[in-house]
Amino acid sequence: MTEREPLRIILLGAPGVGKGTQAKRLCEAFAIPHISTGDILRQHVQQQTELGKQAESLMTEGQLVPDDLILALVEERVKEPDTAHGFLFDGFPRTVPQALGLDAILDRFEARLDAIVALNVKDNILLSRLAARRSCPECGSVYNLVVHPPQSMDVCDHCGHHGLVRRDDDKPDTVKERLEVYYHHTRPLISYYLPTGRLHEIDADGPVADVFDAIMAALPGQA
Ligand code: AMP
Repeated sequence: MTEREPLRIILLGAPGVGKGTQAKRLCEAFAIPHISTGDILRQHVQQQTELGKQAESLMTEGQLVPDDLILALVEERVKEPDTAHGFLFDGFPRTVPQALGLDAILDRFEARLDAIVALNVKDNILLSRLAARRSCPECGSVYNLVVHPPQSMDVCDHCGHHGLVRRDDDKPDTVKERLEVYYHHTRPLISYYLPTGRLHEIDADGPVADVFDAIMAALPGQA
């Protein structure tokens, strides 16, 4: 069997667009690690590390954690041996300076991005999806009460924990703030990545399986 070329993907999109769900499927399909800066930060907050303490209030308010902190944690993460066959970034980069920093990190590893996948959904749909989002405080699994409910009401399918919660940053005021932050800081990444010829914009307002198929068809060498 021939060794596959590494696959390095960025998933871009507003909060609630379905990045986490698609990321999980793509990472399973390609056996690459799912690198979510939000998940890494939440672990730091839970463990009350120095970084966790600095990030906590920003996250609760829906603001971004400073670029230098994010870039340092990403550089550490991509040094892990499990990235040898590539990786998928979910929620990173979120600003143009982070994208510039990522280019510099990849240069140091003599690596390059293969695809930047931008998922698009209208704001009113994002808002209703976020209102229905619940997560497990124990293992972090994410559900949507409308489109992806747990099998048994209020019980986590993965770890059996009773009592799913709404993340602090999924509360209505914070959601509005996160969308504004997205349009101001993150959406400009579309123009940043457009000239690479590796940007794929996908309509993500359909069933999870259809969106997944559309992403797969867009990825290099998959069509
Ligand atoms: P997420 O789970 O990706 O929606 O991230 C949750 C929160 O973590 C965000 O609202 C930010 O406060 C913070 N965060 C996650 N990733 C980044 C990033 N790349 N840059 C800055 N802040 C981030």
